[in-house]
Amino acid sequence: RQTKIKKPKWLRVKLPTGESYRNVRKLVDEHKLHTICESGSCPNMGECWGEGTATFMILGNICTRSCGFCAVQTGRPEEVDLFEPGRVANSVKLMGVKHAVITSVDRDDLKDGGANIWAQTIRAIRKQSPGTTLETLLPDFAGKWENLKIVTDVAPEIVSHNIETVRRLTKEVRIQAKYDRSLEALFRIKKAGMRTKSGIMLGLGETHEEVLESMQDLRSVGTDIVTIGQYLQPTPKHLPVAEFVTPERFEEYKRKGIEMGFRYVESGPLVRSSYRAEKHIFDMEEA
Ligand code: SF4
Ligand code: SF4
Repeated sequence: RQTKIKKPKWLRVKLPTGESYRNVRKLVDEHKLHTICESGSCPNMGECWGEGTATFMILGNICTRSCGFCAVQTGRPEEVDLFEPGRVANSVKLMGVKHAVITSVDRDDLKDGGANIWAQTIRAIRKQSPGTTLETLLPDFAGKWENLKIVTDVAPEIVSHNIETVRRLTKEVRIQAKYDRSLEALFRIKKAGMRTKSGIMLGLGETHEEVLESMQDLRSVGTDIVTIGQYLQPTPKHLPVAEFVTPERFEEYKRKGIEMGFRYVESGPLVRSSYRAEKHIFDMEEA
């Protein structure tokens, strides 16, 4: 049995407090919504919720997949909730954010993979908050590209799909996913005219060269934005942390990513796909 490595000081975070945090809490509870912030045990809740923002997770909170790193519950999901798009749209309006990030569990049990609820959610947000830009962190739709198209047809400003780890570790980290299928999803999203974004977690046993190779792979399918963060083990049942990557190494990936041609690289121990997402889009627009 592997001994747990001690968490370094750079991973210490603020505890959630304050009025904005309480407002987000109330909104999520009253609208019966799920957030990846909570379901994924994100370390940034104090910061993001404290700034009045959260990432809603649609299509329920039970996932049909069981990725070894992810804290979201696996099992048989509940029936699709047709009122969810409206409740998410109301909440985005109430939060009053300039940029909203939405994600979902994987719904491999549904014929459309949840694509229609995705499209309805985007349309509902557009209608209620026309000034808000949208970022959708999508699943791979199990390679059923007609379902992916239902979402890209509604044209969110940024479409993300996380590759999560390097090629060699994909089978262990994302058992039901495929590295090349994820690259193909990103390629197709790009071809549909969207700005694309992907994320990689470090500290699962990958080498420095493998990280650079994955970054190159993402560039080869035209990915615009990459986020690179430290994997943290949510419970003892999840994959162990093999390494805590230093902030200096994260900086190096940032520099290398810019050299490779990414339009934005967010790289640091606490970076998550939706971390400071608003900054990515607005900085890119100014650039
Ligand atoms: Fe939520 Fe993303 Fe912020 Fe984490 S980084 S708290 S998942 S918005
Ligand atoms: Fe978690 Fe997404 Fe994997 Fe489901 S598909 S277990 S939500 S990472």
